[in-house]
Amino acid sequence: MLLLDGKKLSEKILQDIHNELQSYKKDLIPCLAVCLIGEDLASHIYVENKIKACQKAGLKSVLKKFPSDCSKQELKKEILSLNQDPKIHGILVQLPLPPNFSKQEILSWLEPKKDVDGLTLENKALLWSGNPRVIPCTPKGILTLLKAYNVAIKGQYAVVIGRSEIVGLPLFQQLISHHSTVTLCHSYTKNLSVFCQKADLVFVCSGQRHLLSQKDFKKGAVVVDVGIHRRDKKLYGDVDPRGLENHLSAFTPVPGGVGPMTIASLLENTVQLAKKL
Ligand code: NAD
Repeated sequence: MLLLDGKKLSEKILQDIHNELQSYKKDLIPCLAVCLIGEDLASHIYVENKIKACQKAGLKSVLKKFPSDCSKQELKKEILSLNQDPKIHGILVQLPLPPNFSKQEILSWLEPKKDVDGLTLENKALLWSGNPRVIPCTPKGILTLLKAYNVAIKGQYAVVIGRSEIVGLPLFQQLISHHSTVTLCHSYTKNLSVFCQKADLVFVCSGQRHLLSQKDFKKGAVVVDVGIHRRDKKLYGDVDPRGLENHLSAFTPVPGGVGPMTIASLLENTVQLAKKL
């Protein structure tokens, strides 16, 4: 089984970005602003990793932290000011939000030209009409990883498990646009395993630790595990990795698979937006 090493590839992407930015001789220093709302530990760790990656690749970053009891007005004022600031090129609102905030409302305040994860209505419309401004970071990272390892996508039968706005849905869109035949499964899907067992490519983005295991995949399948679950200081995915080694043709490890590719894509998208602003 081939391990699709997202950590190694992401390091190369960060180095490539660094080299590209150096060639601009400070004429272009892209800057990512991250809004972190609430006290969720996992979100704090993800944001820390994103800021560190910016430093490594030569991007600037600004971190705006808000307590979960901050007022909507305060948050809106800050986002509108980032929209206006010519030194900021990309804005990311770290998800999930605390339950007292409406994701749709907060994302509606973002300037689409700075919406680095492609979540505003305008950017979703562009993506689904086949002319994306940016491809959402996690699906983009997954596609980049598969392409780097020459994993066939065109004409393959793919199953995506999960229909979230940031992962499952845009991944479905990307796979279709790369000419896969795709089934999108979710929490109301009956007999999930029956779909997975037929698939050449399985993308597991359910947010359920070890939802699937070896028996759910056909021999020789490629499985992409998007899940991240922190337990006792260890990370686990949505797939139980036991027994996969002699069964699959390729697999993304957790950690070190999709996670670092999401961050690399975030930086790529920031640079892309900076070039257009
Ligand atoms: P989400 O909770 O918004 O969506 C989960 C989706 O899975 C839902 O559409 C739901 O219908 C489906 N689902 C849940 N239980 C299911 C079941 N038993 N059978 C079939 N479908 C089921 O989560 P999300 O934001 O899409 O994230 C999914 C996972 O990916 C989480 O573990 C998250 O931490 C992780 N994630 C990782 C990265 C990364 O960079 N690696 C990025 C984003 C999210």
